[in-house]
Amino acid sequence: MMKRALNFNAGPATLPEAVLKKAERNWLNFNNSGMAIMEMSHRSKEYEAVHNQAISSLRSLLAISDDYEVLFLQGGASLQFSMIPMNLLSEGKVAHYVLTGAWSDKALKEAKKAGKTAIAASTKEGGYRSIPKLDDITLSSDAAYLHLTSNNTIYGTQWHAFPQIKNTPVIADMSSDILSRPLDMNQFGLIYAGAQKNLGPSGVTVVIIRKELISESHTQLPTMLNYHTYSANNSLYNTPPTLAIYLLSLVLEWVEEIGGLEAIQKENTEKAKAIYDEIDESGGFFIGHAEKDSRSLMNVTFNLANDELSAKFLNEAKASGFVGLNGHRSVGGCRASIYNAVPKDHVFELVQFMRKFRVNN
Ligand code: PMP
Repeated sequence: MMKRALNFNAGPATLPEAVLKKAERNWLNFNNSGMAIMEMSHRSKEYEAVHNQAISSLRSLLAISDDYEVLFLQGGASLQFSMIPMNLLSEGKVAHYVLTGAWSDKALKEAKKAGKTAIAASTKEGGYRSIPKLDDITLSSDAAYLHLTSNNTIYGTQWHAFPQIKNTPVIADMSSDILSRPLDMNQFGLIYAGAQKNLGPSGVTVVIIRKELISESHTQLPTMLNYHTYSANNSLYNTPPTLAIYLLSLVLEWVEEIGGLEAIQKENTEKAKAIYDEIDESGGFFIGHAEKDSRSLMNVTFNLANDELSAKFLNEAKASGFVGLNGHRSVGGCRASIYNAVPKDHVFELVQFMRKFRVNN
């Protein structure tokens, strides 16, 4: 039998094996239709059932109330960097951004093209090793919204509590930690995520938005850049990425089957703890990038004493079958991305490898 790779890629990333197998079984002949799902009309009953199932599974897993719409878009999380200010930043208002890494920087850069912006807090000076304290976030009374990145894929930091602000919607880029833990969605005005980490393959972006934020007033916006287009048409105004949404529906079914977000969180905590314990017990051999109270359960970032030793570690890891442990090209070092679908056994194998490498070096 083929052995699955020890895949620690940051995204696109490991998908649950059970999902891939189910997709394979249905590949040629979806629901006895004599065709594959991606050969069907997006207006067919069969496809629409998949589409609506994915929406209702997301609603139930994340406990999303009727005050919100669940939308499927394309263009990745990166398009949301532009769509959010285009739709939600009106004249005379200021979009506030918390800077905790490269992705929030990029989100701010796009917002600047749409209107007035402000930095509500930043941990850039410390090398993006932490999440700001909630008390350090400053908002002016003309804030349109507060944008933050719930998990910083590159730096390996994660928000463990969110600001509660009256009358200003909090917007979260949850690309790399959506569905990793139970969260009260009512804290947010909008959340968004490219699918290619915890949700499925790349190609579909999930946006969950409070209905009152979907404005019809932005009629000057191009149709495809207006949230209203998606909400008024159940994300079927034009052809959606049907294959990606089908795979998303299978991933959501898998999350339900293994016990939902409480069970996922328990597994994720155990997996992350195993690696962080090895870092903490290594006496400085492995040096964690994130400050302890800001550590991510999804992306564990660390360095070794010098670049030479890091390179040796990465080379030997690669030779031993580990995939994707290089840090992001902008920061270097090492990163283990341990999303929902990364099996616990693979994480334990990595920890054993780290320990052995430490003892031998
Ligand atoms: N935000 C975060 C937190 C990310 O990790 C990524 C991708 N790694 C993006 C945004 C960009 O996503 P996309 O490639 O889907 O545009």
